[in-house]
Amino acid sequence: MINFDVMTLFPEMISQACSHSIISRGIVNGIISVNPINPRDYTKDKHKKVDDTPFGGGAGMVLMCQPYFDCFDSIEKDSDTEVIILSPQGEVFNQEISSELSKKSHIILLCGHYEGFDERIKEYTKAREISIGDYVLTGGELPALCIIDSVSRNVEGFLGKIESADYDSFSDGLLEYPQYTKPREYNNMPVPDVLLNGNHAEIAKWRRKQQMIVTYRKRRDLFDKFVKQCKDKRDLKLLNEVRKELDD
Ligand code: SAM
Repeated sequence: MINFDVMTLFPEMISQACSHSIISRGIVNGIISVNPINPRDYTKDKHKKVDDTPFGGGAGMVLMCQPYFDCFDSIEKDSDTEVIILSPQGEVFNQEISSELSKKSHIILLCGHYEGFDERIKEYTKAREISIGDYVLTGGELPALCIIDSVSRNVEGFLGKIESADYDSFSDGLLEYPQYTKPREYNNMPVPDVLLNGNHAEIAKWRRKQQMIVTYRKRRDLFDKFVKQCKDKRDLKLLNEVRKELDD
């Protein structure tokens, strides 16, 4: 079980997004818990002020230390707690980090807003800075939700058997193979024959080759990394076949 504590000025964004589909089921089944906490509830002035203008001038508002320090202190922690600040300046989130975080039992996520955090909040919380990509969003809530969603998928029992992540993109260094569903033909576009013949060995081989082809075409960086690290004899043989097909 992972407990996510999310420090956010917009708690409804988190609770609302977590009240649907597989995430909501994960919460009901006790696989994860998601607890939004509002730093505004920890302010000490009557206006509940959480931000102020930047020292040195400049545009925008900066999130203040006091509400964030006090809110952070109110959360019970243990030796397994991971503290994450969402920031476009952080290490870029990926499946490897997601899988690493899924081993934790408690994750605190600090969502910024406006110009971001007073630098001392990062120092005080000793947080790991994580970005979800090289672009800037208005707040950390969507990044926090991306992390909650992705990390939870790695937790045993979160996904039903039918939603298994075993062959998902990135799970073993390759992207997923193409998927098809009924009908067999639509708008003169047939499903590949191999998927209809019931020969499971042939289907598995086709899918593995497709994973390699799709990764080669869409993500050469991942493909090259896979080739470098590949030791599995069957995969090496398939890679040779794929190379020949791609050369033709
Ligand atoms: N002034 C900051 C900068 O240039 O680095 C950007 C602040 S951004 C407008 C407000 C908040 O949104 C950030 O504090 C962070 O929590 C969140 N945020 C924005 N883009 C993000 C990203 N790519 N990954 C993670 N969090 C992001």
